[in-house]
Amino acid sequence: MVCELCELKKITTWYFECEDYVIIECDLCRVPMVVFRSHEEVPEEMYEKAKAKCRELFGEVYFRMWRSSIPNHPHFHVVRYKTVYK
Ligand SMILES: [Zn+2]
Ligand SMILES: [Zn+2]
Repeated sequence: MVCELCELKKITTWYFECEDYVIIECDLCRVPMVVFRSHEEVPEEMYEKAKAKCRELFGEVYFRMWRSSIPNHPHFHVVRYKTVYK
């Protein structure tokens, strides 16, 4: 099974990486995006950890939990303002 993300091609800006997730620029939306390395749903705490890291890196930000960009990995976008997506 070939998954684009697992190949981890650094075609966009990478803000942060650790063993659980990476924070990269989404090349469609041009905003930072958190992508978990797992192909399965990750526990809530991991989302909380990743969100805390985003606030550390980007300041006061919001998160768009609606998924669209990557089929195989849990992920979410980091946005500068609150939207209906929460
Ligand atoms: Zn993958
Ligand atoms: Zn995107």
